[in-house]
Amino acid sequence: MGLKVGITGGIGSGKSYVARIFKALGVPFYDADTEAKKLMNTDGQIRSALIKQFGEAVYLEDGQLNRAYLSSVVFTDEKRLQALNAIVHPVVIQHGTDWAEAQSYPYSLKEAALLFESGSYKSLDYTILVTAPLEMRIKRVVKRDAVSREQVLDRINKQMPDEKKSEIADFVIVNDENVPLLPQVLTLHQQFLRERIA
Ligand code: ADP
Repeated sequence: MGLKVGITGGIGSGKSYVARIFKALGVPFYDADTEAKKLMNTDGQIRSALIKQFGEAVYLEDGQLNRAYLSSVVFTDEKRLQALNAIVHPVVIQHGTDWAEAQSYPYSLKEAALLFESGSYKSLDYTILVTAPLEMRIKRVVKRDAVSREQVLDRINKQMPDEKKSEIADFVIVNDENVPLLPQVLTLHQQFLRERIA
């Protein structure tokens, strides 16, 4: 089993963009947010806990998660959002750990928006935080998601601030379209490879 490395960053930091570079280098890659969405449809433990917490309406007739319903329930209710996370996160963390332990490459990379908030960083050997200036993050997300500046700021303000994340992270990648990005990625890549091979 290789090292387990996590990558995160606030919305618009470019964490997926940076993760794609590692993936292109051949690093086994796990996208926790995508896997979480899948597991909410397929995992029996999540299904029964969600029905217990939110009622039968949380799944559609065809058995798929009723995302619109669930979003509307948790959107304005912090307690219910926490209940949702408490159901989904442990299952996804275990799934990600099992996945990482099955990889034979010197290290694997897991991307998660809530790597620190969910506590999933504790199951990893190293964490990388991707950062970018606030204005740049806003512009990127406005363009990517066709949402308003206010909507982006609202989401940013709900996330753990970068200052706090950088205290927990082992490494920071600056993705400000000024500091060259590739050398930062390659330096870490070499370091993880060396550490595992040494
Ligand atoms: P996150 O996953 O952190 O929310 P993304 O990786 O989706 O952010 O990046 C947000 C947007 O900014 C995407 O459209 C992405 O292609 C673009 N982007 C991110 N980093 C860069 C970069 N270094 N150069 C050019 N575009 C970038």
